[in-house]
Amino acid sequence: MKLVFLGPPGAGKGTQASKIADRFAVTHASTGDIFRQAVAGGSELGKTVKSYLDEGKLVSDELTAQVVDSMVIDREDSFILDGFPRTIVQAELLDEMLDKRQMSLDGVVFFQLSDQEAVERLTGRLVCQGCGQNYHVKFMPPPEEGVCGKCGGDLIVRSDSSMEIVEKRLNEYKEKTEPLVDYYRKQNGLLKIVDAALSPDQVTRDTVKVIEEIMG
Ligand code: AMP
Repeated sequence: MKLVFLGPPGAGKGTQASKIADRFAVTHASTGDIFRQAVAGGSELGKTVKSYLDEGKLVSDELTAQVVDSMVIDREDSFILDGFPRTIVQAELLDEMLDKRQMSLDGVVFFQLSDQEAVERLTGRLVCQGCGQNYHVKFMPPPEEGVCGKCGGDLIVRSDSSMEIVEKRLNEYKEKTEPLVDYYRKQNGLLKIVDAALSPDQVTRDTVKVIEEIMG
């Protein structure tokens, strides 16, 4: 199973990718998580990408594609790509990576959400310092305030959760990532749309249905 999860920041695609990956026993590959872990670990990659993440800017297409190529496509047969591709150039680089291994995508799931809803969701995000699990003060609160329900680690406000950064990320999404919806729509039957404004459990059910359709 080779899938791309696409959608505006705040659509919950990371949460859904994590659930769906568990359910279908495939790898959840999030470029945002890979970059955040690199920053937290202080690696060369982390040092290079830190300022981009802090400012809500996109890391270069070439570097991001290299990371996906070596850490995901080269290692895994089945995966959900979450947060990649994010530009047309990245989508073309992904096609090349798959082509050269005689592989192709099975589907692209687009999590659709209005701008207003995206802003509301993005400004309350928490992340676990220990395991990277995401929470939201309103939509997905942790079982105990300030404590991760998965590993017991401390929860902090995500550094990209301020209004200024949120607006920047949404503008960047509109300009660079939204054109991917058309890019994949033009590829016969590849694009599937899920309404991301529904409850997280309903979105999961709809996503499972769509994936079962894709995988026949
Ligand atoms: P995310 O957790 O997916 O929202 O990603 C957090 C940050 O990581 C983004 O704001 C970018 O700075 C960087 N990032 C993640 N994925 C990509 C990508 N495909 N291309 C460029 N930058 C990315």
